Amino acid sequence: MINKNDFLKILGNNILIGDGAMGTVLQESGISTSPDLFLSRNKNSLKVLSEIHLSYLKSGSNIIQTSTFGANPIKLEAAGLKPEIKNINEKAVICAQIAVESYKKITANDNKNPVNNSGCCAKSILIAGNLGPTGKLLKPFGDLDYKDAVDAYCEQADILLKTKIVDLIIIETMLDLNEALAAIEAVKQINKDAALICTLTFNENGVTIMGNKAEDAVNILTDAGCAVVGANCSVGSDKMLETVKKMRKANPDAKLIFQPNAGLPSIKDGKTVYSETPEIMAQNIKKYLEYNPSILGACCGSTPKHIKKIAALI
Ligand SMILES: [Zn+2]
Repeated sequence: MINKNDFLKILGNNILIGDGAMGTVLQESGISTSPDLFLSRNKNSLKVLSEIHLSYLKSGSNIIQTSTFGANPIKLEAAGLKPEIKNINEKAVICAQIAVESYKKITANDNKNPVNNSGCCAKSILIAGNLGPTGKLLKPFGDLDYKDAVDAYCEQADILLKTKIVDLIIIETMLDLNEALAAIEAVKQINKDAALICTLTFNENGVTIMGNKAEDAVNILTDAGCAVVGANCSVGSDKMLETVKKMRKANPDAKLIFQPNAGLPSIKDGKTVYSETPEIMAQNIKKYLEYNPSILGACCGSTPKHIKKIAALI
């Protein structure tokens, strides 16, 4: 685990590259369960998931996210998998670790990626423990108490951080700012200096389903202690530009992250395909650069090829 200040130092004025989709890449290989459920049910899951992580690292990702998006106690309870919470979260972290170790071995003799004295790659590689939505609505819109949401995220974050493998926590695809704040509070209860990224998911006008506006969220999430805040999922890279502009205008200094979808999904010959090619996505994301982002990656429908094109922008 690195602390918030160390993470901000690593970021500096650089742009780090995030990763892309895990779930939709798995679907392409015929696996229709979510990555976290796949981990609990399939013997080959460690190998399959670590290879996908590795392909993102080879494509230029600096930050890879554990496949623990749906592995909070509330979501697992709904799937009948609550007793497996520790196993699923730990396995997902190990997948990311295997990929990082393989990447270090592969690049150890590569002049472009020299290994420094600490044994780590000169290129920053970080493992982000992923927290996703509980799938329930907080009161008064649903029946989930804020405190229960905090407790649920505490349980998952504690497992992730106790592995001592996770470098930071990313809270992502949050539809509700309050649920995001519950997750932030939970992580800070476990480690008050934790390096935290938080992204909400906005429509093309920069508003979440729950009515939270991008220009408000950037300041509230930063004030709550996040090192980096931003947006992911819901829209393609062209439609996310509005959110990019709104967030930067509302806060000239915030460290921002954007991970859009590879356009919109459609069904072609029984398969889900996304509309943005790696080239289109990179062209669109190039327009984000003037708004001074700190991390750029991608979400649903993206592949290592998309990440390679995005990384080539830097
Ligand atoms: Zn997504």
